[in-house]
This record gives sequence, C-alpha cells and structure tokens, in this order.
Amino acid sequence: MTTIFKIAAVALAATAAFSSHADGYPAAGKTITIIVPFTAGGPTDKVARDLAESMRKHLNNATIVIDNADGAGSTIGTGKAARARNDGYTLLLTHIGMSTIPTLYRKLPFNVLNDFEYGGIINDVPMTLIGRPTLPAKNFAEVKDWASKNQGKVNLANAGVGSASHLCGLMFQSSLQIDMTPVPYKGAAPAIADLMGNQVDLLCDQTTNTTSQIAAKKVQAYAVTTTKPLTTPALKDLPTLQSLGLKDFNVTIWHGLYAPKGTPADVMKTINDAMKASLKDPEFIKRQEALGAVIASDDRTTPAGHKKFVESEIAKWGKVIKAAGTYAD
Ligand code: ASP
Repeated sequence: MTTIFKIAAVALAATAAFSSHADGYPAAGKTITIIVPFTAGGPTDKVARDLAESMRKHLNNATIVIDNADGAGSTIGTGKAARARNDGYTLLLTHIGMSTIPTLYRKLPFNVLNDFEYGGIINDVPMTLIGRPTLPAKNFAEVKDWASKNQGKVNLANAGVGSASHLCGLMFQSSLQIDMTPVPYKGAAPAIADLMGNQVDLLCDQTTNTTSQIAAKKVQAYAVTTTKPLTTPALKDLPTLQSLGLKDFNVTIWHGLYAPKGTPADVMKTINDAMKASLKDPEFIKRQEALGAVIASDDRTTPAGHKKFVESEIAKWGKVIKAAGTYAD
C-alpha cells in the first residue's frame, strides 16, 4: 500500500469509527414508528413520546410516530412488532411485561428472546399504590382493614394480564392474602381515569402516570413499591410497602427499546447510539426525574446488557408468577 493509500485508509476507518449513522438511515422523508403496546396517555406511552422527541434530534430530525397497539397486556403490540418489517423503521417500546408474558401466557405467538433485536434499557420507574377519591381509607392500615372487610368486592384495576399493574396487583393480593377482583384495561390511562371517577377501588401503577394525579389530590396515595422512599416532592412522604410489613415487596418497572429480529446491525447501532444520547439529554432527564423515573445504568443501555437483564428478569418474575399460579391463554 502506498503512503497516500495508507493515510486514506486510516482516515476512512476513523470516520467509520466515529460516525454513529448507518449509511442512509434514517432516509430523508421516512417516518420511524414506535409501537407502544398500551393506550395513549399512560406511563409507557409517556416514556415513548418523551424519548421520541429527544431521539429524533440524533436521527437527522426524522419524524417519529407512536402506534398505540394496545390490548391483551401488551401481547398484541409486541406481537405486531415481532412481525413488522425489519428495516429499522418499526421499533417497539415496552416495559417489564417483556419478562412476565413468557410465563404468564401459555400460548405466546412470538419469543421475546429470539424474535427481537435489543436496543437498550431506558429507565427504571417505581410504582405507587393509589385509591379512588371516595375510598374510606386514609392510609395503608385502613386500606388493609377495608379490603379484608370487603373480600371479593374490592376492584383492583390493571392494564391487562402481563402488565406492570397486574404484576404489582398479584404480589399485593398474595402478600395480604385478600381476595380482590382484577379489572383489566388496555393500558393504565383508562384505568386511572376510572379510578379518579370512582369506578374502581385500587390501582398500582408507575409514578410516571400517578405523580401528577397524586400532587393534584385526584387520587389517594398509600405507598410506594420500592425498598427506599422516593425523593420526588409529591411522593416523598409515602411509606414503602416493605416498611408496612409486606416482606420482600420490591417492584421497579423498566422500559426498553426493541426492533424486529434481523434489523441490520449498523441500523441497530444508530438506534442504540441515538437512544443513549437521549439518556444524556438534560431535557429528557428533567422530564423523567420530575415523574420519579431514573435513567437506566450504562451497563443496561447496551443491546447485550439489555438482553442479559431481560433474561434475568424472566427468571426472577417466572418464579413469582408460578407461585401465584395465574396464567392466560
Ligand atoms: N403502566 C401500565 C401497566 O400497568 C401500562 C401502560 O403503560 O399503560 O403496565
């Protein structure tokens, strides 16, 4: 190789190493769709919309739209993403459900580990236990008392079998050993709307959905699901369920980004780079923190770290779900 060629080759390699964009992706004028398998206005949807707003700045200002393919505890939208064209223009943003549905659903028409490319974990979000405004229970001890006196009549809302609220509700019922009636919705937005309207009694949901309603006193708040109290102003006085005697109660919801299996590696790198850049975007961080969410640790923002984490979560929640003995077809 002549010296000139060597210099050119080194320069080219350097450009490739520093360029975060796959050739031609995203193409000008092409829209990227992020499938959210829950209703618009809920916590997963809010994370997706905030992330899309930031990510587009790192993707040539591409238009990113959200497709709320809701229903069946996230399995409809997740299945839609598994079957989508694997060209980088259809992504999926979903939560901890990715690790609960493989155990909860007897017949899942896709495989969460084999049918997706992993794009990175985005955040961790605590949950809160909240009640309807007219519930005659002002604190957790009173909730327990009221629920045990109303066994079988307590309506516990959730976003479908496999959702975060369903998982939290399962743990809540088995910790208290109180029989409650699950009321499934297609997402947490309609569930909290019905809670505020006194149609259902209790809901356990991400702080990204509940913080502003708690602050506005539109719902009653009883406890948080994490091991430590939270620092978000509207939530900082809430006790943890563990401190209230629910041994080992510890649920934190995480959200991750995916693409259909076979999406080209250079495109996935562009997507992962854009997502990681968003996780450092002060605007995105501010919006997440205001709602009690914590940006994911660096080890889980890589595709390999993300997949390893999901594998460990499938093992962890599989045991809890099998112990509860709840399944769906
Ligand atoms: N937070 C909901 C759940 O319970 C889903 C949603 O984001 O609407 O899983």
